[in-house]
Parts: sequence; C-alpha cells; structure tokens
Amino acid sequence: MKKTTRILLSEKEMPCQWYNIQADMPNKPMPPLNPVTHEPIGPEALAPVFPMELIKQEVSSERYIDIPEEVLDLYKTYRPSPMFRAINLEKALGTKSKIYYKYEGGNYSGSHKANTAIAQAYYNKKEGIKRITTETGAGQWGSAMSYACHHFGLELLVFMVKVSYDQKPGRKLLMNTYNARVIPSPSSMTAAGRKILEQDPNSPGSLGIAISEAMEIAVQDPYTKYSLGSVLNHVILHQTIIGQEALLQMEKAGDYPDVVIGCFGGGSNFSGIAFPFIRENLTKGTKTRCLTVEPSSCPKLTKGKFMYDFGDSAGMTPLLPMYTLGHNFIPEKIHAGGLRYHGAGVLVSQLLKDGLVEAKAKMQRECFEAGVLFARAEGILPAPESNYAIAGALDEARKADIEGVSKTILFNLSGHGHFDISAYEKFFEGNLPDHELTSAEVDASIAKIDLPV
Ligand SMILES: *Cc1c(COP(=O)(O)O)cnc(C)c1O
Repeated sequence: MKKTTRILLSEKEMPCQWYNIQADMPNKPMPPLNPVTHEPIGPEALAPVFPMELIKQEVSSERYIDIPEEVLDLYKTYRPSPMFRAINLEKALGTKSKIYYKYEGGNYSGSHKANTAIAQAYYNKKEGIKRITTETGAGQWGSAMSYACHHFGLELLVFMVKVSYDQKPGRKLLMNTYNARVIPSPSSMTAAGRKILEQDPNSPGSLGIAISEAMEIAVQDPYTKYSLGSVLNHVILHQTIIGQEALLQMEKAGDYPDVVIGCFGGGSNFSGIAFPFIRENLTKGTKTRCLTVEPSSCPKLTKGKFMYDFGDSAGMTPLLPMYTLGHNFIPEKIHAGGLRYHGAGVLVSQLLKDGLVEAKAKMQRECFEAGVLFARAEGILPAPESNYAIAGALDEARKADIEGVSKTILFNLSGHGHFDISAYEKFFEGNLPDHELTSAEVDASIAKIDLPV
C-alpha cells in the first residue's frame, strides 16, 4: 500500500470547539491564591488584567467551548494545519516505528502561538479594550500577538526578553512590521524593570521579568489589558484545536499514537496536542502516553518543586500551584528562548503530579542534532524549541527498535526556525554549550521563595 505523507483536513472538517480538560481531570487543580493575603481568589480578582470572557474560560468546567465566528475566520487562513507522516525521517533513522508530526509553523507567526493570539485579541476587542501589553521570549508570541492585535484594531506593546532581543533582531522587525512597539526587558520604563537593572545592569532578562513589566503597565489604565502566551488555562484551551484536529487526522491515516510528544515552555503547545488524547484515555480507555520534553537548563517539571509560586518575578500575579524553579530563577541563555520559563501551567502540573503525563529533560546540543537530522530528512527547519520534541520522538523510535517493537509516535512541530538561523550557525561551529541545572542549584533557587506550600 502506498504510504500517505500529508494528512489533510478540509476547512469543513475543522473542529469548531475547544476542549477544556478541567471537565475530565480526576483531580481538579487547587485554586489560585491572592499574592498578599494568600487566600483563594475568585475570578473577579483577575478583572484588572484580563477581559471577562477569558476569565470565564480560565475557571470554566464546561467540556467544550464554541470558537467564535470571527476567530474561526482567521483560523481558516491557516487551519486545519497539516499532519505529516515523516517517511524520510523514518528512513534516515532506519526505524520500524511510524513517526507523525503536526506542523504548527505554517502561519503568519511561524508557531502555534497564533491559535491563542487571535482568540485573545478578539475577546479584548469585543470588551472595548484599546491596547494590550505582553511579554515575549524568543519573539514568536510577540509576532503572533502583533498581527492579531493589528487585525482587530488594537495597539500592542511588547516587552521582549533582552537576550532574545539581541539574538533575534529579525523577530523584533517582524513585530514592528505587524505594527507593534517592542521594548527590550528589563527596561527603565517600569518599576519592576528598574529594580532588576539596579541589581544587574547587564541582566539578560527572563520571561518572569518581562511579565512583571507588561502587567505593571496594564493595571495602570482601564483600557489596557495584559495578555499571556502560555501557562494559563484559557491559553491552553485555545491550543486544543491542535489535538482536536490531530485526532481526526490520525483517524484518516488509519492509525493511533502510542505516544504523543511536545516540548515544554509553559505547557501550551504540549497541552494543545496532548489534552484531547488524554480525554480519550480518560473516557475511552485508550493508553496513549503523553510525554513532554524540557531543557536540562530549565527543568521545572523534572527537578522543580510542586508548590504555590508566582508566575512573574516581581510577584504581581496570583500564586499558582505548579511545578516551579522559583520565580526569581533566571535560566541560562539557551537558544530555545520559548522554553526559558521558571514555572509550568497549572493543568499540566496537576496532570503530571497525578501520573497522567510524563516529562523528561534534554540537553541543547542533542536537540539541535535531532533538529538538523529532521531538517535534512523532512525539509523543514524547526524552531529551537521544537527540537526538544523531535529529540524526544527520536528517543522513542530508537528505544522501540532496541526492544524490537514498532510504535506509532506523534509529535507537535510547534514552529519553524527561520529567525533562529544564528543558533544553527553556533551549533555548526561547535559553539553551542550544554548546561544542566543541578539539584543543588534548584534547591538554592527554591529556598529563596518564602511562600505557603
Ligand atoms: C513559545 C513556544 C514554545 C514554548 O511554549 P509552550 O507554551 O510550552 O508551547 C514552543 N515552541 C515554539 C515554537 C514556541 O514559539
């Protein structure tokens, strides 16, 4: 039988609902706490920061949430996204396993982040908001938000983590092209930024710091709201369009994954592809393993602690129950900028604690090796972040070959790496250092937070 390499859905087949795993989780996540009183907070506490509709989604226990017409219209400019059977990668590996990937890089932002950017811009616009502030690491989120905000007639101010601002000037220019203003973070524009600069004028920045800066600006003006590109429940909800489509595509391929893999920054692309498969596990008894791969230099899931911590470095966000390395942790300057976040989404954290997802950590060089092997076989240059998912998929195929079995492996190719070519240059020059955070360093970082467990 001829093997299909591209598994496509028509526009009509595109799912028109997001999936909310809060409806099916055996243990619901613990509530967020007020940052000052440490009492559980209700949804109203988030009102200065987010529009009401997103707050409702944040706490919703409805299993399915309808995707608004205007959001579907923009989704349809690039969705359903393709799934590929990686025939040439399988050949290059000489594996008996079948490897599939869902490609989320084929849109204006070059990553999965467009899926939530469009939804967030839409709900803000609908509630009369004029301006949005946000942070960005490697720049994919900022790019995603820039176009979405411009489309819906909103202004956008982006705090971009300094190290990425310097490493990825092309990303900044893309955001400017889509009409956004971009500031390197830490900046002197906010109290949070100035405090960091006083301590270290050469701070490379972190997502935690950039979030503090963006929130500080947003809460000062009722027509400005803040927007986050990962971690939160509503962000992850919007990303489930990936897994919803993937289920239909696997069915078209006449196959079903033994393992689903995604890289891990705050959890949105992994959760997006994995949660619909976890629903099938929970409600239909399937046994798909859901595996997420994080960098060894920022190993919150594999070495961090499950506890209440802040989502940002200045302590402005509610306290969230999650795996964390401590909100003041500043990760090494690895090139997968989107994976340099100290914490993890509450939903994935709870699922990991309950053994419903698996996590592993990998070093930067091995992931770039995997990414280059993938690029040469499949003809797509992956984002440095996505290389962690690819490396995870190669591990699974190699392990199956050693065991003499054939597995069906599905991973999420979260984005392309066209703006990250300098990271590949460093890799080819042998100039890409490996770094692994030790347990002692993790303990030291966590000891700095003084919060209820
Ligand atoms: C932001 C980003 C990630 C990491 O964020 P998650 O929320 O964990 O998905 C991964 N890949 C790409 C391409 C990204 O832009």
